[in-house]
Amino acid sequence: MKILVTGGAGFIGSHVADALLEEGHSVVVLDDLSSGRAENVPEKALFLEGDLRDAALVDRAFAEHDFDVVCHQGAQTSVSVSTREPVRDAEINVIGGLNVLEAARAHGVARFVFASTGGAIYGDIPEGQRAGEGWPPQPISPYACSKLAFERYLAAYHHEHGTPSTILRYANVYGPRQDPHGEAGVVAIFCQRLASGEKIRINAMREVGDAGCVRDYVYVADVVKANLLAIQGKLEGKVINVGSGEGTSTLQLAERIEAALGVKTDKEWGTRRAGDLERSVLEPNDELQRHTGPATPIADGIRETARWFAGRA
Ligand code: NAD
Repeated sequence: MKILVTGGAGFIGSHVADALLEEGHSVVVLDDLSSGRAENVPEKALFLEGDLRDAALVDRAFAEHDFDVVCHQGAQTSVSVSTREPVRDAEINVIGGLNVLEAARAHGVARFVFASTGGAIYGDIPEGQRAGEGWPPQPISPYACSKLAFERYLAAYHHEHGTPSTILRYANVYGPRQDPHGEAGVVAIFCQRLASGEKIRINAMREVGDAGCVRDYVYVADVVKANLLAIQGKLEGKVINVGSGEGTSTLQLAERIEAALGVKTDKEWGTRRAGDLERSVLEPNDELQRHTGPATPIADGIRETARWFAGRA
């Protein structure tokens, strides 16, 4: 198949592109390199540098290439940035996404896979519970709103035009290649800082000095597997949580990374960040896990990730 991977110069998109090429597919990456890096784009992929907000450019890409599937990973991905720049967030995540969806419809693309967020859409999940796909969305950040809005557009396009799609709601994804310099991606930030002997900061869940927010950390290889299945059409028409089902506080995460790297560091204690949920843990999707097996244990994923960052420090 010929597959368009938007955001394929980014963390997750580039891993998906690698896996698709390994399976013998042909891959075109569309990315403006705003947070992605050209060196992440696999050599065998065709790279189109461009902005999703440019409707004419997006349409030209579809006119020139006969895509079978769109895997839409390209996005403004930071919750903090979305709280500061909600209009830009919506321009990229809603209008940019619509440019891709509209071109996919106009050019008769068979399948659309969307990288949504289980980590932000469901809102705070009370202690002892996990959010399944039926949990009512309660977005509290502009980022969560833009992702949920685009999910609704996909449903509307399916209803109106029959465009088939799969929505993958990722938990907090971590792994090699994640950008440690942004504001999102605490695993990458901690790995990079600890591997370079720098201090790390635990931002508060409520009060300065607490163990920090609780998140469901999912390894990027598990996210790639979900994308491959969706691209093959095995999860068509579905909304799928891609998570580990396990809650980990920021402090526990820091200790896991310290153990993986064999280091110990002084910690700084930060205040709560705007837009941050206190607790987010997903109920892993049964159908997905029937295909892929259980999620990668956090100890294994952190070990691989820490090793990768240590090799670059
Ligand atoms: P990333 O920032 O590494 O990748 C996003 C890519 O999109 C980057 O390469 C960036 O350059 C590109 N991009 C941004 N704006 C663009 C624009 N206007 N035009 C063209 N390209 C543009 O982030 P990631 O973690 O790999 O995220 C991939 C997808 O997964 C995103 O849609 C994100 O919202 C979603 N997601 C990620 C996580 C996570 O924990 N990393 C969790 C839930 C959902």
